[in-house]
Amino acid sequence: MAKKQVANDPAGLLAAVFSGGFGVQTHPAQQTCSVEEISRKVLTFCSERAISPLPAVYELVFGYFAGDHAEIVEAVDAELANGGIDTERVLVLHEKFLRGSDLAMAVDCIGAELGVELSSLERITRSGLDGAIRSRGELTRISSGLTGRANSQEMMRLVQRIREIVVQESNNVTLMTEGLDVARNRLATIERDLETCVRAANTDFLTGIANRRALDARLAAMVRRSCSIDGHDFVVMFDIDHFKRVNDTHGHAVGDNVLREFAGLLKRECSAMGAFGGRWGGEEFCVLLSSRDENGGAIFAEAVRRRLEEVHWQRLSDGGEIGQITASAGYALRIEGDCQNVLVERADRALYAAKHRGRNLCVGAQELTF
Ligand code: GH3
Ligand code: MG
Ligand code: MG
Repeated sequence: MAKKQVANDPAGLLAAVFSGGFGVQTHPAQQTCSVEEISRKVLTFCSERAISPLPAVYELVFGYFAGDHAEIVEAVDAELANGGIDTERVLVLHEKFLRGSDLAMAVDCIGAELGVELSSLERITRSGLDGAIRSRGELTRISSGLTGRANSQEMMRLVQRIREIVVQESNNVTLMTEGLDVARNRLATIERDLETCVRAANTDFLTGIANRRALDARLAAMVRRSCSIDGHDFVVMFDIDHFKRVNDTHGHAVGDNVLREFAGLLKRECSAMGAFGGRWGGEEFCVLLSSRDENGGAIFAEAVRRRLEEVHWQRLSDGGEIGQITASAGYALRIEGDCQNVLVERADRALYAAKHRGRNLCVGAQELTF
């Protein structure tokens, strides 16, 4: 595949990222702009709204004016139509749409650090080894020439030389140990950084609970296991009812807070029941539960539904009433031989039935007639 040519300056780089080259295609409402024009627009946009021009903010707003990332354009337009946008919201959108690239970049950086560390380790061990081989050769030569040598002065000279070799080797070992200690510390840092990346890659940016990727991995592990006689595996899908209305009435920021609160509620319920829950996408959440109770799925779904129903929702900004928020759930019992998709599809169909029957309901897949 041919490599894309990108400019050396950050603005040029960003333009290339968003447009695939130079001569940037702008937001549909605007005309084609140069990189410099877009940069000016970004700064004007930020200063007019008192938005801090942080690097992440610049990247997101540049993406908006470059117009090549349709989701960014749509999201920023929605924010503007909803009464405006501030630094916090821009950062949330940055996390939502551009953090994937940040993560990939972080992993690349860690890979580069690891490369440097490996070269330095190779250097340290090679020099230690070379020194040891040289010393061993010299000691062997001294040893083979020792027999029959009665001259005490000659012996004294050899002993002095042997002592020099011992000191030299001892210094080499000290240097090598110090080098290896430094390498060990650096590797520990690299390992921690990688753990952070792995955690970030499996965490939903908005709610802080497991994301779709983590759920997929757990689901795959679940369907690989054989079903046991006294244990029952369930997939429970939740979908917040009329969530679009929440956004439309109170704005996306309130909608996001509702998602965070629901995620927190789900997490608490999962901890209590030993289940694994995450955000499936949008306002949909998924829970994987193993239970001794054959009604485990129904009990879990109903507990969450009822807890959500009991929450008294108020806007954080002004304490205004949001009204009741409910969710519907569909759950499915895993049957031996189920693959991931089939199992999720059954839970999804049950969720669809719950919506169809009036929402704020939990439906089990076994109740459906196919
Ligand atoms: P239903 O009861 O049938 O589920 O109706 P609904 O309105 O919940 O479903 P619909 O699919 O029509 O709308 C879902 C909405 O969720 C639309 C989308 O803008 C919103 N949404 C998705 N992800 C996010 C997010 O991260 N934050 C916010 N605030 N809204 C989101
Ligand atoms: Mg939905
Ligand atoms: Mg919904």
